[in-house]
Amino acid sequence: MKIAVLPGDGIGTEIVAEAVKVLQALDLKFELETALVGGAAYEAHGHPLPDSTLKLAQQADAVLFGAVGDWKYDKLDRPLRPEQAILGLRKHLGLFANFRPAICYPELVGASTLKPEVISGLDILIIRELTGDIYFGQPRGRRTAVDGHFPGADEAFDTMRYSKPEVERIAHVAFQAARKRNKKVTSVDKANVLETFQFWKDVVTEVHAQYPDVELEHMYVDNAAMQLVRAPKKFDVVVTGNMFGDILSDEASMLTGSIGMLPSASLNAKNQGLYEPSHGSAPDIAGKGVANPLATILSAAMMLRFSLNQPEAAERIETAVKAVLAQGLRTPDIHSDGTTKVGTADMGAAVVKALR
Ligand code: NAD
Repeated sequence: MKIAVLPGDGIGTEIVAEAVKVLQALDLKFELETALVGGAAYEAHGHPLPDSTLKLAQQADAVLFGAVGDWKYDKLDRPLRPEQAILGLRKHLGLFANFRPAICYPELVGASTLKPEVISGLDILIIRELTGDIYFGQPRGRRTAVDGHFPGADEAFDTMRYSKPEVERIAHVAFQAARKRNKKVTSVDKANVLETFQFWKDVVTEVHAQYPDVELEHMYVDNAAMQLVRAPKKFDVVVTGNMFGDILSDEASMLTGSIGMLPSASLNAKNQGLYEPSHGSAPDIAGKGVANPLATILSAAMMLRFSLNQPEAAERIETAVKAVLAQGLRTPDIHSDGTTKVGTADMGAAVVKALR
């Protein structure tokens, strides 16, 4: 089992180090190879995704990724910015399905900003399409407007688009995931305004005919944003496009208490995957030893389950994470009265101890 380890920038290096310790504490044989990505790779090689890093990722069974980015790179040309490394990996590895489970652990009910009765027992899965939509559609750019409200003015534009096979394959992923859960899919769109999302809705409905055992509901994205904080437990699997998924999955993260708890998996058609926490490089707390490593550790568990076919090892990690939470250990982002505040390394060490 070959794992490409790409810690990246900011807290990425701190949290990935803890996930690696947890993997090494399992009695499994891994080949772990580390490479630079993001701003760190730009500093060393002049590109956020050097060929050597991409090659390593392509040859590996899975990629364990930290986070990339820092405000100091905001002035670089877009293709050289750290975040382009993620887009490049998604593109070259064909990662089209992003899984973001949002689970509220009983011990963290108090860490969420929502009322306990709203989130207690929450277990939903957001599936975001990753390769299409307005993030990748061409043409895009800046120009002088020839029509619209202000002809002759500078303007910018992007293109929202989805092809039928793109929507079909993510719909299949969602229905199949729902079959292993509570058999309900909510497809989120903006069909009332956008042609692209009327098409999305039509295609999802067509694919649904192959999954009569799964309930399908359609919901507009504005309503979905509201329902996620009003009654999130009504959802089981939520499937949506790239942009809506980006936004809704961050919203869902706060239901669980902290974005520092939320793992994610991005898979291609061969179940090769990139596993990363849902958060970014958190430059505001980088180097302080306070970042929550649990999202990354839980991402490693997803990696064992989805790409490395080691479901028992995945469960061992998840059980160990629950155990440290039950012991009352908390990084500052999830800390509350009556619990013990610990740093990144202590949290990682506690998970390793619980594993053993
Ligand atoms: P962020 O997710 O890095 O941070 C948002 C807030 O959450 C911050 O206050 C941060 O301290 C906190 N936070 C995040 N992870 C945490 C953790 N594990 N433990 C405790 N607190 C945590 O988002 P941002 O501040 O908007 O972006 C910072 C940089 O990260 C930017 O350069 C952005 O482009 C990049 N980014 C990268 C990824 C990625 O690598 N996949 C994703 C999102 C943002």
